[in-house]
Formats: sequence, structure tokens, C-alpha cells
Amino acid sequence: VIEQGQPEHSVVTTCAYCGVGCSFKAEMKGSEVVRMVPYKGGDANHGHSCVKGRFAFGYATHKDRVRAPMIRETLDQPWREVSWDEAINFAAGRLKTIQQQYGRDSIGGITSSRCTNEETYLVQKLVRAGFGNNNTDTCARVCHSPTGYGLKTTLGESAGTQTFDSVMKADCIVVIGANPTDAHPVFASQLRRRLRQGAELIVIDPRRIDLLKTPHITSARHLPLRPGTNVAMVNALAHVVVTEGLEDSGFIDTRCDQQAYQRWRNFISDPRHAPEAIAEITGVDAGAIREAARAYARAGNGAIYYGLGVTEHSQGSTMVMGIANLAMATGNIGREGVGVNPLRGQNNVQGSCDMGSFPHELPGYQHVADDAARARFESEWGVSIGNEPGLRIPNMFDAAVAGQFKALYVQGEDIAQSDPNTQHVESALRSLECLIVQDIFLNETAKFAHVLLPGSTFLEKNGTFTNAERRINRVRKVMPAIAGKEDWEVTMALSNALGYPMDYAHPSEIMDEIARLTPSFSGVSYDKLDRLGSIQWPCNDASPEGTPTMHSVDFPIGRGNFAITEYIATSEKTNRRFPLLLTTGRILSQYNVGAQTRRTENQHWHAEDVLEVHPSDAELRGIRDGDWLGISSRAGQTVLRARVSDRMLPGVVYTTFHHPGSGANVITTDNSDWATNCPEYKVTAVQVEKVSQP
Ligand code: SF4
Repeated sequence: VIEQGQPEHSVVTTCAYCGVGCSFKAEMKGSEVVRMVPYKGGDANHGHSCVKGRFAFGYATHKDRVRAPMIRETLDQPWREVSWDEAINFAAGRLKTIQQQYGRDSIGGITSSRCTNEETYLVQKLVRAGFGNNNTDTCARVCHSPTGYGLKTTLGESAGTQTFDSVMKADCIVVIGANPTDAHPVFASQLRRRLRQGAELIVIDPRRIDLLKTPHITSARHLPLRPGTNVAMVNALAHVVVTEGLEDSGFIDTRCDQQAYQRWRNFISDPRHAPEAIAEITGVDAGAIREAARAYARAGNGAIYYGLGVTEHSQGSTMVMGIANLAMATGNIGREGVGVNPLRGQNNVQGSCDMGSFPHELPGYQHVADDAARARFESEWGVSIGNEPGLRIPNMFDAAVAGQFKALYVQGEDIAQSDPNTQHVESALRSLECLIVQDIFLNETAKFAHVLLPGSTFLEKNGTFTNAERRINRVRKVMPAIAGKEDWEVTMALSNALGYPMDYAHPSEIMDEIARLTPSFSGVSYDKLDRLGSIQWPCNDASPEGTPTMHSVDFPIGRGNFAITEYIATSEKTNRRFPLLLTTGRILSQYNVGAQTRRTENQHWHAEDVLEVHPSDAELRGIRDGDWLGISSRAGQTVLRARVSDRMLPGVVYTTFHHPGSGANVITTDNSDWATNCPEYKVTAVQVEKVSQP
């Protein structure tokens, strides 16, 4: 811990990095944070934290912060610092002109999983009520949108089923496409504790993740499947459950839709899903798959945790449904120690989805085509809302390149660096007539912007984040907003300048409005959050203090819905030109594209992204540790340094994406999930060759 002085007082708030949502005491001297101390009363972390959260305050006062609004007429002009009023009026004027010239649907807005619930709610409200269309989306599009689709289709709610603490009652823990020790460290510590107490571990991942090396554990199985074959694997596991009589027929009979179940049972019993039939597809020994399926099905409590290695695939939604099928078939839903648990990458992925940031859903996952839901919002907001979904982020890019989409408001999201196929994104952004970027730093997206509005960090505002276990935690302001306005105030000012009035004195009033319109939040208020510490939604008359375990009595759709999950191989194939598969992930000390962690004490760890290459692939190419490698795909090229490592399978290479120079998204393709357009970041066919230093 860096001590910069003796604290005078402290404020309890929530970490703004990952989906664990740790509570911290920000210890203050005047308005300066002197250290962040993990808060023992935090319901998600119980006094623990990781190396990211402890140093998070470093980026809030970093010299690179954008401290004043800026505008420019065209991209070739220099930025001009202006007052808030001038910047907001400039932005509103352009948006109005563009709508007059090109129509109401020619503009849109993107919210961020980094911002508070109240801020994301306001952005989608601005788009729907102020812009007059449903062209609102969130960066959850590129991470967990398949979770929303898959869990809603099968279990009836777009959210994980458990608390983190529930893992302490699990007997068999299945981790699929996730690396919790790096990406969700505080939860990983809890998980490891349970493994040391005797729970079995099954890891389904192309990479031998650190969890497998946990000392003193009873049983650890690794199914190192080829990237892109998740659905074949989950179908094989379910096939073993069904054909070996390992189902929980009591749960299926009483809790699940019988027609859907029979249809699914006929489908999954087919021998083409047998482990022996898919061993060649996945590259995993059939016997190991059978043993893993038996271990999960026979465990008293089987819990599944998954990450972006499940969702960021062309069959991301299918895989989420496959996981839910498996949990229902074995009765592992509706009590402590079991469940289907997405590990959310960003602090407020769950919240940004809950708050109606999707073009097809109003807050609380209420579809825009639902007349009754729309009527409630129309009455509260005093506008009419379209009953057709608007544009998703990739649709916005395509429409911009085609000249049909002309202006975009982006709050807290660096789409130029985060979204796949950077060349396409950049050409879309370049074709916009007005790009408004609201961010704490001059990010890559801002290079294409006409208006730059300073954002505020989690230390500069009030609000709430919702973590991966549906837990709503308070974010409390500990220092004044560096540029004078909090993010929600900026959105409000833009809306007022556009002629749609918004008038909130405090984010608690925004939460009160959310509670009036969102059945799963109807019992949430700042007073209750202060009293209880945190609340897991649904929180309403039926569960006034929240719901730690979902689906314990019934599903929101009545009965659990088994979905058909046919495996369809990705179109991203290796060949002689691109013989290796690239997959990506995170490292403990850095966070996402590194915009924040690289501006804290964490800058000293993991100073560059490297490419992990299996020794056999390295030998074939004469590659040694530290060599510079040119990596080319069908989409583009980048250069990274080599690390020879047997953590990967032969034929698979791996990198992180924390530094702008990694170029990971320059080489990823346009492939995306069939249901949600979540990009297929996890499978890219590449060639790797030694090059001279770039
Ligand atoms: Fe907790 Fe995640 Fe923040 Fe680490 S990054 S302190 S695990 S919320």
C-alpha cells in the first residue's frame, strides 16, 4: 500500500474494475485519497482485494485526465478547449442538424459497463426519449451479450443464479472458458479455499490455467479443448448424463417444461454427441469427458462458472444454453452450492444490461415490443417509444460505412480499441459527421471525435454498480469531479440542450425512477442500500431484501426450458497459410485495454503483451523466448514478443490485450455470435513468424 499521508476520514465505495465488485474504504486526507483499504463489511469481498483495486485511485488524478471539454469542426483541426455550455450546445446543435438532414434514426448512443447504473440508465433514456429511437447499445455487446440471451431463453432471467459465497457449498466446481485467478482474483481465492476443503475441480479450457495448480486439492481434471469446440463439448457432457442415467428426474419432472425436455433428450441422446464421436473435434480424450460428466452429475452440489471463453464465440449463446441445459438435467439449479454463474469481466456488465442499454430491451429486460412495458415508460417519460429494436454496435458501424448512420454519443467506452476488426471500426468512425466521446482520457476513439467531454471516475460520483452475482453496491463520491461535472450530469445537460428535459438533483432520484419502472428493482432505494450494505436483485414485494439464490421455487418463465444446441463449427478455420489458432485473455495486474491500470502503480507489472507459443510450434519456427514475432490473420497483422510456454495446446497461441500496441483486435475477425453479434474474439486462425524488432 502506498501511503501518501495519514488519513483523516474514510468513505466506503466499490472497486470499478472487475465484476467481483469489492468494497473498499477510500481513506482520505482532505479531498485526497491516501490509500484504498479493502472493506471487511463488503458483502462480495469480506475484506479481501487484489492488486488492481488497491491502486485504482492512481488513475483518478493522473496527469492524462481530460480536464476540460473540447471541440473541433473537423478531424484535421486541433482541439479547442471550451466551456461546458459551449461544448454541450455544439454537440446538441450538430445532433439536431444531422437528424433534420438524415432522419431521426441516423444517430445513436453507446453506454459503458464501466459507468454506474444510473449513468447507463440515463444514456439509454436520452437515446430513446431525446434522440427518439432505440439505437442504444453497451460494451456488454462484445463480452456477455450471449449470457443475456442464453440464460433468458433457458432459465428466464439474464443473470447468474448464485452469490459468490455459494461456492463454499459446491462439491464439484466446473470452470469453463474463464481464468479467475487473473480476471476475478478475490473470487478465485474463495474458490481455491473450497477446493482445498475437498471440492472437485473440472476446467474446460484450451489453456492450463493456474487454478489447476492449486496446492492440496483432491481432484483436478482438465479438458483442454480446441478453441471453437465448446458446444460439442457441453453436448457430450450432457449426452453422458442422459445416456448413463445420471439425470435428476425429480427436478426435471417438477421444474422443467416436459415437451422441451423430451425434444432435447431425443436430440442429446443421439450417438453423434457421444464423447467418442466428438473426441476428434475437441481434441479431448473421450474417457476424460465421460469421467468429468460423471463427477459433475454425481456431486451433491455441482456449480458451473464461466467467462468470455464461453461467450466470445460464433456459438456463444448456444454454449450458454448448453450450460443451462446441463445444470437443469442434473438438478443443479435453485439452491446454494450449485447454479450457472457467468463471471463478468467489467464492474458493471450486469448493471449496464439490467439498465436497458440493449437496442431491443428497456430496463429490466423488458422487450421494446412489449406494449404494456413500453406504455409504462412512455407514461413516465412523456414520449412515445418505438416497438422495433434499434441498431446494435456492429450494425451502427456497418450503417456508418454505408453512409446511413451519422452521429454517435459514446460514454466511457473505447470502441476503437475494444471492438473487433479495428480497420472497419476506424472507417466507420471516420465517416461520422458528429462523434461525441465522453471519457476520462483522450482514448483511441477520441481521435475520431468532434466533441470530447471529460468523464468522471468512480471516486468522483455517486451511484451504484451491480456485480456478477446481481449485487447492487453503492459507489460513493469521495472527491470533486475533476472537470466539474459527473457523468450523469453531462448526459442530463446534453438531453436538456436537445430539448428533452431531465431534472435530477442526485443519482438517488434516478434510482427511484428505475425502481418505479423495473419490476426486479422495485424495492431498491439508496436508503435501503445504506441500511443493508448491498442488495441482490430481484428486490421487490416478493423479496424486499433481495434474492441471493435465483430460481429456488420456480423460473420467471414458469418452467425451465431445455434448448436445442446443435454444434456448428466456426467458419474461422486453420489452413496452410494460417495454421495456428489464436485465443486471448487477461493477466492479474492489468485490466482490459489498460487505460486505467497503466496509469497506476500496476504499470510496473506486465509492461507488454506477449504471445505464448507451445514449445513444439516454437521449435518448428525456430522461435525462442523474447524473439519478435509477426502474427498475421485474414484480418490484419501485428507484432508481439514470444514466450514459449506449454500452458497452451500445440497449434494454439495466446495473448493478452492490455496494451494499445498488442494489436489483438487488428487481427481478430468479423465473426460473431449468431444471436447477439458478440465478436468471436477467442478464435482467430493465424500464422506466426520471427521478424526483426519493429
Ligand atoms: Fe476486487 Fe475485482 Fe477490484 Fe480486484 S479488480 S479489487 S477482485 S473488484
